[in-house]
Amino acid sequence: MNGPPDATVRDIVIVGSGIAGLSAAVYAARADLEPLVLEGPEPGGQLTLTTDIENYLGFPDGIGGMELIENGKEQAKRFGAEFTHGTVENATLAERPFELELSDGKTLRTRTLIVASGASARWVGADGESELMGYGLSTCATCDGAFHRGDDVLVIGGGDSAMEEALFLAKFADNVTIVHRREELRASEIMAARARDHDAIEFRWNTELEALHGSREEGVTGATLVSHPDGHPSDKADPDDDIVRETVDVGGVFYAIGHTPNTEFLAGTDVERDELGYLRPRSDAAGRPTTETQVAGVFAAGDGADPRYRQAITAAGTGSMAALDTEAYLETLDQTDAATVEGSL
Ligand code: NAP
Repeated sequence: MNGPPDATVRDIVIVGSGIAGLSAAVYAARADLEPLVLEGPEPGGQLTLTTDIENYLGFPDGIGGMELIENGKEQAKRFGAEFTHGTVENATLAERPFELELSDGKTLRTRTLIVASGASARWVGADGESELMGYGLSTCATCDGAFHRGDDVLVIGGGDSAMEEALFLAKFADNVTIVHRREELRASEIMAARARDHDAIEFRWNTELEALHGSREEGVTGATLVSHPDGHPSDKADPDDDIVRETVDVGGVFYAIGHTPNTEFLAGTDVERDELGYLRPRSDAAGRPTTETQVAGVFAAGDGADPRYRQAITAAGTGSMAALDTEAYLETLDQTDAATVEGSL
């Protein structure tokens, strides 16, 4: 049950506290707009799951992901940004001010919204994954790789992330097997070659993960793999003589099968999302890209609107763009409101 809406109407609510949300918060706060930043289920976003970031401009020796986020939060707070925990379940954008229903039952009201809710790692759907996620099953090799010294581990996926995770894990694990559902990698040639050339990395083609074995006490102890010579084994009718099932002993499993944008709360609104859920901000009259969505006053930033670049620095860039677009929009709104009041006098 939702309580009555908070009577306060905010100028800006920023959904998401990853690098895009923080960058938007710094810009909006410096413009005296007192943004409220909602920290959702993964506060600080994906950068908090990485170790060193070496390609973010201005840090010649690299910077830790957590440190970069903590610094960004301090910076935003210094200019007056407010932070609160809250996950938006539902957004009502057809009327103004916008209303955001949070999972704890509260409702927020705001004149503008910056959606910087990012993307989350996808899960395979194998048996046992809910129980074992965080207990030997992981979506982040850089976070959890060091727990697997001397283990045999699996990496699920065939893209650049899978190659990167496998190469990182090979520093700790005895043996890393990349399990891919077909025979060709999606990864770029340079990343694929690095993985292929590594002595501790091997590939299992045309294979999917069906089940994980182990317990929270013991961690992951094994995995059931299913293969078919034509690939995509789980799509094949079972029983099929060509399907081969095998249980292997492994101490860790890493998912690297891509990400899903956290934009589900916008379903049913006029904000346009593509078939994967990525936001599609519109272009201006001259055809140049903006951060504004199809609903005036709702802006998009970060990975939730970017299936292509997904870099820390691009996310931070779009965060600042969204804040500048929001500021300009609020100015127009204020002028319109003033003209309406004058007109009615
Ligand atoms: P991706 O390119 O979408 O690859 C996802 C992989 O997972 C694909 O091989 C896909 O198989 C597989 N997959 C998807 N769903 C699956 C399922 N349910 N079960 C088993 N396998 C499944 O994602 P990504 O690797 O995360 O890369 C995302 C983007 O970031 C790419 O543009 C990539 O180039 C970039 N990136 C770059 C670097 C780098 O250059 N250092 C590092 C990481 C990521 P199919 O191939 O059969 O579809």
